[in-house]
Amino acid sequence: MTKIVHCWIEHPVRKLDQTFTYLYDGEVERGCRVRISFGARQLIGFVDRVEESDESRAEIESRYGFALKDIDVVLDQESLITDELFDLAAWLKEHTLSTAIACFQTMLPGKVKPAGRTASALKEKMVRLSDKEVSLTPKQLEAYLYVRDHQPLTYRELRKAYVNQARSLVEKEAVILYEKEREGKVVEPLANEAALPLLEEQKQVMDEILSSDDAVFLLQGVTGSGKTEIYLQLASKALAEGRQVLILVPEIALTPQMIRRVRQRFKDGLAIYHSGLSDQEKYEQYRLVKTRQASIVVGTRSAVFLPFADLGLIVMDEEHDASYKQDSQPCYHCRDVAIYRGRYHHCKVILGSATPSLDSYARALRHVYHLVVLKERINRTLPTVTVVPVREAIRKGDSYILTDVLREKMAERLARGEQVILLLNRRGYSSLLRCRSCQEVLKCPHCDLAMSWHHDIRRLKCHTCGTEMRTPYVCPVCGSREGFMSYGFGTQRLQEEVQNAFPDARILRMDADTTGRKNAHQKILEAFANREADILLGTQMIAKGLDYPNVTLVGVVNGDEGLSRTDFRSCEVTFDLLMQASGRSGRGDKNGEVVLQVYDPTHYAVVCAARQDYEAFFYQEMKFRHAGQYPPYTYLASLTVASKDQRQTDRLSLALKAGLSGDFQVIGVVSLLKIQDKCRSRILLKGKNEEEIRRGIRQFLDTSDLDLKGLKIDINPLYLD
Ligand code: ADP
Ligand code: ZN
Ligand code: ZN
Repeated sequence: MTKIVHCWIEHPVRKLDQTFTYLYDGEVERGCRVRISFGARQLIGFVDRVEESDESRAEIESRYGFALKDIDVVLDQESLITDELFDLAAWLKEHTLSTAIACFQTMLPGKVKPAGRTASALKEKMVRLSDKEVSLTPKQLEAYLYVRDHQPLTYRELRKAYVNQARSLVEKEAVILYEKEREGKVVEPLANEAALPLLEEQKQVMDEILSSDDAVFLLQGVTGSGKTEIYLQLASKALAEGRQVLILVPEIALTPQMIRRVRQRFKDGLAIYHSGLSDQEKYEQYRLVKTRQASIVVGTRSAVFLPFADLGLIVMDEEHDASYKQDSQPCYHCRDVAIYRGRYHHCKVILGSATPSLDSYARALRHVYHLVVLKERINRTLPTVTVVPVREAIRKGDSYILTDVLREKMAERLARGEQVILLLNRRGYSSLLRCRSCQEVLKCPHCDLAMSWHHDIRRLKCHTCGTEMRTPYVCPVCGSREGFMSYGFGTQRLQEEVQNAFPDARILRMDADTTGRKNAHQKILEAFANREADILLGTQMIAKGLDYPNVTLVGVVNGDEGLSRTDFRSCEVTFDLLMQASGRSGRGDKNGEVVLQVYDPTHYAVVCAARQDYEAFFYQEMKFRHAGQYPPYTYLASLTVASKDQRQTDRLSLALKAGLSGDFQVIGVVSLLKIQDKCRSRILLKGKNEEEIRRGIRQFLDTSDLDLKGLKIDINPLYLD
């Protein structure tokens, strides 16, 4: 019987984001990859739907009104994804206004991505007994029995056990070699740790979650308040019911410790999924989940797309973290997908954080999420926080990288054999201008956000509203005519300065430069945990979730650099960083201390972080958001155009500006910094209704006949610079 097969193909023209129809006589099902001819090209397609038909080919073609081609080859024997994931892809496409094929590509691991490269999974040489009767030497017989007793067995394993016999068994045809797709193995469980008896506060939270019918919970609790223990005990219940558990963490660097705790607690199969794995490894982990060999998954953002059959719990730790948002098409937020899947599987979704994103906390206050709070740290100690104003150090001519206060405290700790973490807040440091006299950052007169310094054209620009200006002669804050400069330094410079101050100290540095290689993160962190170094210094990535009992001092070197960032979320991001950094100190029995070097010690983000007071920060920040009508009071969509050709960029952005209409504001065109030789510009949509914004964009996409290749659509963008 002829099958009518509808498949998605990768096509640069957005208009062609539709299925194409082919014919096939053999076995093919929804969710398989196929090779097809499209025009003069051979492409990989992804099967969306298969119709079995009694009609002859001629009848089918006459019904369609044109000739249909055959599928050349079917690449997969069975569907790569589940029906749920099909529906999810359709939802994701509408939610992010992306193309269907981009959604499938994001959801599937590299080896089996539709389109793109066509690498196939690795095959492995296996060995099993034949039916042939042959005479064997005693040693060969031993090897023969080994093969019998160790099925399935790889040829490599046989060679390892019987170096001299393996070859001859094959030659005598006592055993047969065959190929099998290489399979991953679940992580070996330890299961050597029992659940901890919950403390009163934890018990209340646990009861509240279990007794409620709500689906999504926001678990707020400072670092060390026992959130992870709650995740594990909820997971234990889901596993006992025979269901699967997904635990999401924001960064690879955080997977090892979560994996350790899961292994110690459970004997169930554990899979690990993050961007540090090779395509083959990812594929193997994917298979482990699909075949249900894995019951628990610990992973980063993309793990949210794994083919679970029966999820009983989703945990999203550090839910506020920006790495949960994908920065390329489809620009999805992992939280939205997690909640979608939770609804499908009828399972609870726990969003955990010490500093929930403003959006989530606001939703929790409106009872969209169910808020549960852990107020106390398990060991009941909060670190002592000292705020050091850098401004004074600069005035006195001291180093603004390592102030006297921080240096003295470091000396004290190091002398006692304790460890120190120094954190550099590096986002956006070089593109701002500060007054040489009052140190204030130059801000946009319309937005109250810092302006970016575009060195190439020697002008300041506001990335939110597009205002442009030359550097003023007079400081608008203090009236000084001393001019402006950008202070900025990287981790390397910091390392030099620290090494000069402490010539004998052993320093480890962790930043994008030192963590390029695979597992580099883990090696650096392990070395630090093993006390192979006295000082660990680095960027944001060391601020999160790391747990070292011997670290008693954390210094944030340029704590509020982020406050002068160029977008509306900068205070939130800085507050998170300062809170997280403080959580790193004094996790063991020793009392911890935190030093925050800042320009403006009176800023509420600094004051609230020093007091570890999330709520106070939340209300202050919401006032600022309300005044500027920023999210969560409004919804944004950012449409970025990028092209090597300036005219192309201009043409498309002007067309967008003219063509977008609806019940929302259209802000821009704002031209952005060039990245990788691409001229970029952005249009921002701002409105009270998220769906109305989507409708407006969709209408443009459906009616425009421009080439939209360089267009990136980001609904609810996290950053605007
Ligand atoms: P969080 O995830 O909020 O940072 P954790 O769950 O990691 O907190 O708990 C912090 C520390 O307290 C861990 O060392 C953990 O083993 C310990 N802990 C958590 N819950 C309990 C408990 N009920 N009794 C004793 N120790 C606990
Ligand atoms: Zn000034
Ligand atoms: Zn502005």
